[in-house]
Amino acid sequence: MHKKQNILIIGAGLCGSLLALRLGQRGFNVTVFEKRPDLRKVNISAGRSINLAFSNRGNKAMKLVGLESKVKQLCIPMNGRMIHDIHGNTFQSNYSGKDHEYINSISRRDLNALILNEAEKHENVNIYFNKKCKSVNFEKTTALFKDNQTKNEFIEDADVIIATDGVGSIMRKSYYLGKKFLFSFSQNYLTHGYKELSILPKLNGEYKIHKNALHIWPRGSFMLIALPNLDGSFTVTLFLSYNEGKYNFSNLTTKAKVLEFFQKEFPDALAVMPNLLDDFFTNPTSPLGTIKCSPWHYKGNTLLMGDAAHAIVPFYGQGMNAAFEDVVVFDTILDQHKNNWETIFKAYENARKKDTDAIADLAIDNFHEMKDHVANPIFQEKRKIEMALEKEFPEDYASKYSLVTFNENTGYREAMLKGRAQDKAILNMLADNSISITDNINIILEKVKKETEAILEDDRIAGLK
Ligand code: FAD
Repeated sequence: MHKKQNILIIGAGLCGSLLALRLGQRGFNVTVFEKRPDLRKVNISAGRSINLAFSNRGNKAMKLVGLESKVKQLCIPMNGRMIHDIHGNTFQSNYSGKDHEYINSISRRDLNALILNEAEKHENVNIYFNKKCKSVNFEKTTALFKDNQTKNEFIEDADVIIATDGVGSIMRKSYYLGKKFLFSFSQNYLTHGYKELSILPKLNGEYKIHKNALHIWPRGSFMLIALPNLDGSFTVTLFLSYNEGKYNFSNLTTKAKVLEFFQKEFPDALAVMPNLLDDFFTNPTSPLGTIKCSPWHYKGNTLLMGDAAHAIVPFYGQGMNAAFEDVVVFDTILDQHKNNWETIFKAYENARKKDTDAIADLAIDNFHEMKDHVANPIFQEKRKIEMALEKEFPEDYASKYSLVTFNENTGYREAMLKGRAQDKAILNMLADNSISITDNINIILEKVKKETEAILEDDRIAGLK
């Protein structure tokens, strides 16, 4: 394959800008069209959540393109979950028993801007803003765009088109509507939506609540979370049902009702959110869904990547990390298959889809864990045991959370199968009192390993592995 080939990327979000950078580094001619204005020049929200949890898989991608140290400067470490109960009491549950394992809060806009800047340093990479893709002719490898400023429409062709245009992907829509090949597609919404709120800094710029944690107010069927920003503020997200329960997005329509809800459920958060009502009635309520589809490519002409191929709910903090990991996997495949794009696209999807399907399912699991289980005593006991095992046997034990978040060389599917079996093993043994946190830690490890292996063997027999 000739390096001078023209690659057209649709969407300059997190995945598209990273892909442009990497393909630019590899010497391809890359053109990117983004529908929004340049987020480095215009004060627009970068779209979707303001800040994100960034962890090892994303960092592996940053290492690949040489941006690790620059990204580190944008990161705020979060060592664990700070759980807030209904009376305002807090306790921190660390993400790992190993001190060097933590996640980070990062600004979507700053990260996207950094990657765009790096991509544009390559003269073979050109990025155009305010150009909205309207449809893709995947048989001819062309895409129709509209310039949002001049309103002119134009067609671009390329040797290959890669769509990284996110959850509402136009190319995925063209696959679906085109009915030219067997394209499978599913979209599943949660009955919950989300709304972004904020905790502003103190007048002297300090953080009003503990900086280095992901704060959670778990309330069973709904929750509030908060992640820190570099300016001393927190971005707060309320996850709540649209229609169900005493309080829901459909009935929180008056200031009095919103205040009543927060006073009752999140009194300590309300105390540091004098701007709550402004935020609540200004910011949109948005849905949360999972998208799975296949195939991701049409012959050797076009390919879907990032959220366009596999959007997930945000509860594992992995959507962006997975989109970045896509670029790492794609890069490896480019090294392995130098012959033609169709072989590359096929090999990429074969290598990747099982893992993105797994993280989609894990993210739903974590929704229930965060809003409910974290406040449950048996779950807390399990976490204590996992932390003790990770601390004592750093080479021998990693919890499901650690396998997903900190073990970037283990695929999501492997992490899911092993992690779920471990969870089941510990919970079963806690429930029938065959282990306890006061037992000898060597004996706990032995029992957990044995029980996990038995569960994995059952899964193998049942054909789940
Ligand atoms: P996007 O970031 O959505 O980028 C798509 C780009 O394409 C955008 O710039 C868009 O303007 C552009 N575009 C769209 N349509 C067109 C068009 N027709 N023509 C041209 N351009 C177009 N992930 C994490 O890893 N950690 C987290 O903590 C986390 N928290 C989240 C919280 C919330 C509330 C949500 C909703 C998501 C969260 N995610 C998180 C997921 C993460 O936001 C996505 O997985 C990530 O943004 C995917 O990157 P992407 O480039 O594929 O898509």
